[in-house]
Amino acid sequence: MNEAVQSVMEKRIRRAMAAVQRNQMQAFYCERADQVPAFVKEMLPAGCSVSHGGSATLSECGVTDLLAQGDYRYLDRSKANGPEEIGKLYREVFSADWYLTSSNAVTEDGKLYNVDGNSNRVAAIAFGPAHVLVIVGCNKIVRDLDEAMARVQTIAAPANTVRLNCDTPCAESGRCQNCHSPARICCNALITAFQRDPDRVKVLFVGEPLGF
Ligand code: SF4
Repeated sequence: MNEAVQSVMEKRIRRAMAAVQRNQMQAFYCERADQVPAFVKEMLPAGCSVSHGGSATLSECGVTDLLAQGDYRYLDRSKANGPEEIGKLYREVFSADWYLTSSNAVTEDGKLYNVDGNSNRVAAIAFGPAHVLVIVGCNKIVRDLDEAMARVQTIAAPANTVRLNCDTPCAESGRCQNCHSPARICCNALITAFQRDPDRVKVLFVGEPLGF
């Protein structure tokens, strides 16, 4: 990353970290994406139950490989067969020790913004797993909720429909058309602001772009 851009990005990350902490979430920092698996390994106790939401970030930085190979009770959605098993696993996740996810956006005033189709991910962030670890690349930081919503409509959701091979208009056009498609991935939105349960949600900021 260009040095001047890096300098601006570091200031934005520091602002977002301080604001997240004011909202009773823990904030951590890794300079590089390749440092993330070691951080996660240090954080998760051996034998704990863990699951995660669908996320390009987690696979890009090697976290899904770590979960598959580590000493965990890994509730792996990719191993579930058919809608019935997937639904059962999504419900089991509510009593997991750890839930890992990224965030569609993090605002500089300390809020996480996430939009979901099945909504298992936004539900688990809001309630259920004892600990939630949110891993965000520096590309996810936005000024405020308006920018967060715009980010979802212009980048995150259209790119995710391409990644997931969804039959939605944005997968074709690259922009949100507020569709009524059965494959719509923007059905419920969650704003994670001040938390009553201190430190349940932990946010790991990464000084490199990850996911979209
Ligand atoms: S509402 Fe529909 S068109 Fe808009 S981003 Fe979501 S899936 Fe795409």
